[in-house]
Amino acid sequence: MPELQSHYRVIIIGSGPAGLTAAIYTARADLPPLVIEGIQPGGQLTITTEVENFPGFSSGIMGPELMDVMRSQAERFGTTYITDEVSQVELDVRPFKVHIGKKIITADSLIIATGATAKLLGYESEKVLMGHGVSACATCDGWFFRGKEIVVMGGGDSACEEANFLTKYASKVTMIHRRDELRASKIMRHRVEINPKVEYLWNSTIEDYVGTAETGLQGVKVKNVKTGEVSFFPCDGAFLAIGHKPNTELFVGKLDMDETGYLITEPGSTRTNIPGVFACGDVQDRIYRQAVTAAGSGCMAAIDAEHFLAEAE
Ligand code: NAP
Repeated sequence: MPELQSHYRVIIIGSGPAGLTAAIYTARADLPPLVIEGIQPGGQLTITTEVENFPGFSSGIMGPELMDVMRSQAERFGTTYITDEVSQVELDVRPFKVHIGKKIITADSLIIATGATAKLLGYESEKVLMGHGVSACATCDGWFFRGKEIVVMGGGDSACEEANFLTKYASKVTMIHRRDELRASKIMRHRVEINPKVEYLWNSTIEDYVGTAETGLQGVKVKNVKTGEVSFFPCDGAFLAIGHKPNTELFVGKLDMDETGYLITEPGSTRTNIPGVFACGDVQDRIYRQAVTAAGSGCMAAIDAEHFLAEAE
């Protein structure tokens, strides 16, 4: 791997499919970038098991392996990596300053690919069973629950969308929601209401998961928030759809964001409100949130950065 420099033409923050695709494209455009990959490199795909919907892998590929392959591909063209977290960015003047602890590295352009994090409940059992029955991505993992009974927690558009989607595979989907009405938009609510495979546990939350990595999920402990009663609900899968949080804390007050913290990019491009700063992947996408769309926008960010640097010369 090339030695760490104090200045780069392009620095990429984030190492999921968006960041690594941006790295492949910038490196091949003779702008070998620095990727600051965080302390848990690879992004959300590293917490999933098999990825069966990324084009090019007819028998599927494990999420962590897909990220390893992308990482090596970007490295082959001259990408440098730092496995560390950015503590601060200075975007007022170019070159931009990126702080990594006490180290400061400068860049003529910056690609932000810090992703989003699915909100989880935070139980110890959740960590153990993630990928063994617990999931935060129906599109990624629904296929594994053919003919099984599953629960979806949440009452928003994502929960309804996931519940509906999961009925393609599951024999029964029970939505667990902490209130007695769904927050989701009318059309999304209607879709689950007319779906005969969807049932509801109102005024309820998941208190804990039951099972081990060996047995897989065997059920969830459900608390009725009105009565306080806790009961065991048997199921093979538990999908969390209680929202995502974009990883944008570093950019608060520096880059334009929407009311939920997603970075705003000019439609049809990856340009943020600061020339030379580009955003790609889930950090600017609250709708699609797929590995392949993240990769696509990573490619766009690399091309946008390349054009920006050519024009700035
Ligand atoms: P959301 O609208 O924030 O809904 C999150 C749901 O999870 C809410 O029902 C909330 O309950 C529940 N929840 C949150 N934290 C919880 C906790 N700690 N314990 C228990 N329940 C909890 O998130 P989203 O559904 O992911 O949607 C995000 C945005 O994307 C929305 O603007 C949505 O419209 C949009 N979206 C659109 C589509 C579409 O149109 N196709 C699809 C997906 C998402 P409460 O209701 O009680 O707050």
